Amino acid sequence: MAIERTFSIVKPDGVRKNLIGAVYQRFEQAGLRVISARMLQLSQAHAEGFYGVHRERPFFKDLVKYMTSGPVMIQVLEGENAVAKNRELMGATDPKKAAAGTIRADFASSIEENVVHGSDSAENAAIEIAFFFAGSDLYPRAS
Ligand code: ATP
Ligand code: MG
Repeated sequence: MAIERTFSIVKPDGVRKNLIGAVYQRFEQAGLRVISARMLQLSQAHAEGFYGVHRERPFFKDLVKYMTSGPVMIQVLEGENAVAKNRELMGATDPKKAAAGTIRADFASSIEENVVHGSDSAENAAIEIAFFFAGSDLYPRAS
C-alpha cells in the first residue's frame, strides 16, 4: 500500500482538555508518524479560508468562532493509507455516531466540538499541508 501524508488538527477543545498526547498516541499506535507539527492560534481569516466549503452552512459562524477560540496543534502525518487511517482513528463527525474506541467517541463533547480535524482525501491533504507547512519543514523517516 502507498505511503501517504495527511493533515491533522487537534482543535481548541482538544488542546484545552489536554489531549494532545492522547491523540498523538493514537496516531503512533496505528503506525502513523508525525513528520511536522506546530502550535498556533488560527486567525479568523485562516479559519474561514480553511473551512470555506462550509461557508453557506448554518453552523459556519459558530465553527469559525470555535476554531479561533484558542490555540490548535497542527501536524502532518505520514504512513500507509494515512488519509483513510486517520479518518478511521477520528471516527464520525458526530461523537454520538462515532464508532467505539475512536478519538471522537472517546473525547468529543458534540458534533461541533469534536477534538480533531483530518483531511478527507489525498488531494485535500496536499492542499491543507501546503496551506500551513513549507516543504522544508517536513521530516519524513530516513530510509
Ligand atoms: P473535519 O473537517 O473538522 O475533519 P469532518 O470532515 O468530520 O470534520 P465536516 O462535515 O467537514 O466534518 O465539518 C467540519 C466541522 O464543522 C466538523 O468537524 C465540526 O466541527 C463542524 N460541524 C459539522 N457539522 C456540524 C453541525 N451540524 N453543527 C455544528 N458543527 C458542525
Ligand atoms: Mg471535513
